[in-house]
Amino acid sequence: FGTSAVAAEEPITPPVEVKHTQLLINGKFVDSASGKTFPTLDPRTGEVIAHVAEGEAEDINRAVIAARKAFDEGPWPKMSPYKRSMILYRFADLIEKHNDEIAALETWDNGKPYQQAVSVEIPMLARLIRYYAGKPSLPQKKETPYGVAGQIIPWNFPLLMFAWKVGPALACGNTIVLKTAEQTPLSALYVARLALEAGLPPGVLNVVSGFGPTAGASLATHMDVDKLAFTGSTDTGKIVLELAARSNLKPVTLELGGKSPFIVCEDADVDKAVEMAHFALFFNQGQCCCAGSRTFVHEKVYDEFLEKSKARALRRVVGDPFKKGVEQGPQIDEEQFNKIMHYIRSGLDSGATLEAGGDRFGTKGYYIQPTVFSDVKDDMLIAKDEIFGPVQSILKFKDLDEVVRRANATRYGLAAGIFTNNLDTANTLTRALRQGTIWINCFDVFDAAIPFGGFKMSGQGREKGIHSLRNYLQVKAVVTPLKNPAW
Ligand code: NAD
Repeated sequence: FGTSAVAAEEPITPPVEVKHTQLLINGKFVDSASGKTFPTLDPRTGEVIAHVAEGEAEDINRAVIAARKAFDEGPWPKMSPYKRSMILYRFADLIEKHNDEIAALETWDNGKPYQQAVSVEIPMLARLIRYYAGKPSLPQKKETPYGVAGQIIPWNFPLLMFAWKVGPALACGNTIVLKTAEQTPLSALYVARLALEAGLPPGVLNVVSGFGPTAGASLATHMDVDKLAFTGSTDTGKIVLELAARSNLKPVTLELGGKSPFIVCEDADVDKAVEMAHFALFFNQGQCCCAGSRTFVHEKVYDEFLEKSKARALRRVVGDPFKKGVEQGPQIDEEQFNKIMHYIRSGLDSGATLEAGGDRFGTKGYYIQPTVFSDVKDDMLIAKDEIFGPVQSILKFKDLDEVVRRANATRYGLAAGIFTNNLDTANTLTRALRQGTIWINCFDVFDAAIPFGGFKMSGQGREKGIHSLRNYLQVKAVVTPLKNPAW
């Protein structure tokens, strides 16, 4: 099924240089205490892009000390909301100014199409920071920052996850130690340098590259971290919550995995539904926490939907993410590549019908063919587990009650898509589905003001929107008797 030789061509040279590979602690780029580094790889080839300082417990501790000092002594939490706003606005302006360079770094380290990074993600990064720049004056007098916020982010949207975490924490006057994902350390270091240039005082935002069980776990257990925010897999989320509880009981916000239903009703415009379901699953190489990874299609339109979905997947342009017109780049790394191939084999073994793809793409790097399975049953592994790759599973349903029951029968509850022209159907499904975000006749519409988060094992709390400010504010009740009680 549908292969091409694009991936075998020589990779295009990224239009950017790697400038920062050290840890950012107390406003300075420094080596790790051990002097250790680790390689970050180009997913197009598996070759080394750069060696990055590897932060461990001692570096996390250094960063927490800097963040504590910046909180206790520094101007940041005491600065007038207006001044804090102005620094964040300048930060957003600088991101905009360096948009193309940042996008190139993101594509190089992550493998996502440059077109997507340059025209959607980095502009959204600037918008998110600008949204939060408008918020420092919102907290009421007796709402106060936590102090030092620890933040751990994944590799699929390195900078958007950075903004979802850093934006509200800074707006509320907290200081930060952020640990990036080991697969994608480069772009956050670049952007954090811009924050310094915008006037963020030293120690307010510290960025430590490193691995989960060492740097990540040290941050989660640190006794002087007042608040923790984590985005990643559900399994790691459980570990992090336990580490936080066992140490100083720091409150934790969790954004975890998903297995989101995308429901195509009998009255839906099939062509539009096919395109949206395709986007819902294949966007970002299928590496989205909210990917529409269970495509439920009403039996009356199932055959037509299936034929068209298969044709769409076969038309999907896979190749070097720096090449114009490419819709799908490589998966992030070998581990994810192998995991996805394992799920494809499991789909075949469990009796699903392979309609498109099913194999690696090209001979180099971590490219996978856009894959479509039909005849998928609820108890198959590909319908239950988060695959996090370009594998669409199409399931048939007969009526609304049935699809609600099946869509909700998952440990996850992050998002859902509904495709219908019937208002009552949309309302009925919206009420019945147990998901944090429901998109009607659209998918993956993100705006800084729209809260995002999961029901069930997809997470705890909400990010984005004004809801996210609550993650970074403590409420303080202040009571005092008056000299003259009549007043
Ligand atoms: P992951 O859980 O393996 O890693 C996430 C982060 O946690 C990384 O920075 C990693 O180094 C760190 N980590 C790993 N082990 C740790 C430990 N023991 N202690 C502390 N930190 C540790 O997840 P991933 O593979 O990088 O990302 C993919 C997952 O993230 C998917 O499950 C996806 O659904 C989820 N995700 C969720 C959202 C959301 O908003 N809900 C957004 C993006 C990604």
